Amino acid sequence: MAVPMMLAVRVGRYVLKQHLSGRKRYPLVLMLEPLLRCNLACQGCGKIDYPAEILNQRLSLQDCLDADAEANTPIIAVAGGEPLLHREMPQIVEALIARKKYVYLCTNGLLLEKKIDQFKPSPFFSWDIHLDGDKAMHDASVCQEGVFERALSAIKLARSRGFRVSINCTLYDNAAPERVAHFFDEVMKLGVDGIMTAPGYSYERAPDQEHFLSRRRTKELFRDLFRLGKGKKWRFTQSPLYLNFLAGNESYRCAPWGKPLRTVFGWQRPCYLLGESYAPTFQALMNETDWSKYGTGAYEKCANCMVHSGYESTAVMDAVKRPWHIAKVALMGPQTEGPMAPEIDLSHQRPAEYAYEEQVKAQLAKLAAENPAKAKRGPRVKVNRTRSESARTREKVAENA
Ligand code: SF4
Repeated sequence: MAVPMMLAVRVGRYVLKQHLSGRKRYPLVLMLEPLLRCNLACQGCGKIDYPAEILNQRLSLQDCLDADAEANTPIIAVAGGEPLLHREMPQIVEALIARKKYVYLCTNGLLLEKKIDQFKPSPFFSWDIHLDGDKAMHDASVCQEGVFERALSAIKLARSRGFRVSINCTLYDNAAPERVAHFFDEVMKLGVDGIMTAPGYSYERAPDQEHFLSRRRTKELFRDLFRLGKGKKWRFTQSPLYLNFLAGNESYRCAPWGKPLRTVFGWQRPCYLLGESYAPTFQALMNETDWSKYGTGAYEKCANCMVHSGYESTAVMDAVKRPWHIAKVALMGPQTEGPMAPEIDLSHQRPAEYAYEEQVKAQLAKLAAENPAKAKRGPRVKVNRTRSESARTREKVAENA
């Protein structure tokens, strides 16, 4: 049996079980960030802008297994930072596979050739390689020449060794639909198992704040793209209903609990994209979070979001409620003509709050309390770095990658 079918059946069974048990909120994919450090410094990423003390933190193998035991989802996506910088990554992947979890290891591919012998192909394991378009698009997105070619080599190597491989493609407002369509054609020729795509989220710590898509532009871009894809055999790793949502045809509300994130800070509230606060346990995250405070229409920072972290779970849950609808969209593809579904009213959203500096101070204080000898030597990086200091750090990382 092909793995996507196995996976679809398993996820369908899981969702149906949750649905029938009357559970209002449940996780679908556990997002694990065992480290925040990366060997790239991408313009659209807000994940790596932390002091070195925090970038040096790691979730251990046991932390990762405990997170899995708490959330107990059928799928686990391991992201970061760059997961291949984590020394225990092969053991983490192996242990999760042994529990029959579907593991997607999200990597920029730069270390894949060096590390590939430490991993074994499995129907439960897929490399998920970051590629934001063709050579010019991707190298601009990651702010470094040559990364596209290395990611491409990584894909070819992984395929030649019998691994499952998907790509992860984030699009920004400078994406031209024709160019992205051509890129998807080329990626399919490489024999990848699927494409995961989404609009970029406007991380408040990302250096480039100018190229994030509005919801309207996102829908137009994906309509144009899917129109060009009609009749082509592009394979996506995402629910057809999520793709239909990207093309402006579904009035979905965000379900951030569907993809909970465990990071070195704890369980992140409310989602993979936004770290407004942290819960000590998965139960606390699910039960003590005021979920009504988040999502498009509820919170300013969510206004333009259409990312799978919040909306794919809604699409999957919708498929259980309306199986005929997903069958139609799966057969016909996302709708690319006609009026779009009504947009969410933003007039009552609460204003953005900014907690980054406080969170960093609290985390550094916690680390200092755990290791006073190290703390006496003083912090190596100032907490409240300016944007230009962060930019210099990024340049240094890029030079050393
Ligand atoms: S809309 Fe949902 S997924 Fe997007 S940033 Fe807000 S809480 Fe996160």
